[in-house]
Amino acid sequence: MSGAPLSLIEFQKRFASEQHCAAYLFAARWPDGFACPACGHGKAWPHRGKRFVFQCAQCGRQTSVTAGTVMHGSKLPLTLWFLAAYLVASHSNGLSALQLQSQLGLGSYKTAWLLLAKLRRAMVTPGRSLLDGVVEVDETTIAFRGKDEPPDGGQGRSHRGKILIACAAQTKERALCRIRLHRIADFGKASLHGFIEKTVSPAARVISDGWSGYGNLKAQTHDAKVIGSMPAHIVLPWVHRVFSNLKTWALGVYHGLRKKHVQAYLDEFVFRFNRRKNRAAGFATLLKNAVRIPASTYNMLIEPEPTG
Ligand SMILES: [Zn+2]
Repeated sequence: MSGAPLSLIEFQKRFASEQHCAAYLFAARWPDGFACPACGHGKAWPHRGKRFVFQCAQCGRQTSVTAGTVMHGSKLPLTLWFLAAYLVASHSNGLSALQLQSQLGLGSYKTAWLLLAKLRRAMVTPGRSLLDGVVEVDETTIAFRGKDEPPDGGQGRSHRGKILIACAAQTKERALCRIRLHRIADFGKASLHGFIEKTVSPAARVISDGWSGYGNLKAQTHDAKVIGSMPAHIVLPWVHRVFSNLKTWALGVYHGLRKKHVQAYLDEFVFRFNRRKNRAAGFATLLKNAVRIPASTYNMLIEPEPTG
């Protein structure tokens, strides 16, 4: 699958039944062919009575295609998971849990919220490569809102907090390639160096606005573009375009980000941004990651580890 996403009609034809979906996940989970966890045999048959279960042709061991993955223990049909992944990946801005609930006809908001939270986990490909070549870096603040605050802050504007975010943007021949966004604790050297270590290849050339927090990078070549009083968006055009898009998106789709889940939202933004020219790849990536990422507990989803 590449280029434009499947049309909804094509999608529904291709993933019409639980069997179609299970077969697709089977291929995504075992790209080099099935290997029985008990005896190593390479052949298995779909179990007649149990959903998504494959039975080893040699020893009879039963293995579920979703066991231990993001979809572990889900009561939702695979067709519904697939449709959710399709909608989330092919929508240019993404969907809120409320929109997903109504699109899928789900009975509860909580189910839609958890489904979306699990799909967001699948938006970060395990072992993804570091940004390389020429990489712009910068930091910004973004407003967040509390549980019952209106999106624009209303009377409580002064109570709104700020979340600190760092961005790295890989560029090539005057074009923006891939980005990474992380919530950071502060704009100090330790936080910014830590962010660069996690996201940028040691061989890259890092361009910053000359802020002292970027000084003396251990590995990367550092190009501090301090040009008098020139505004940062001229020195670092790409990273500033990302920040501007991020802020518009956060307000438009989610009516302001909530502090607790900021990293998950940033991961979603990065996922969509990096596949802006190939949204069909997004759908395949989501499902491939969904069967390769270990299961998350309910608490991991609702109370994520603070990152900043
Ligand atoms: Zn076996």
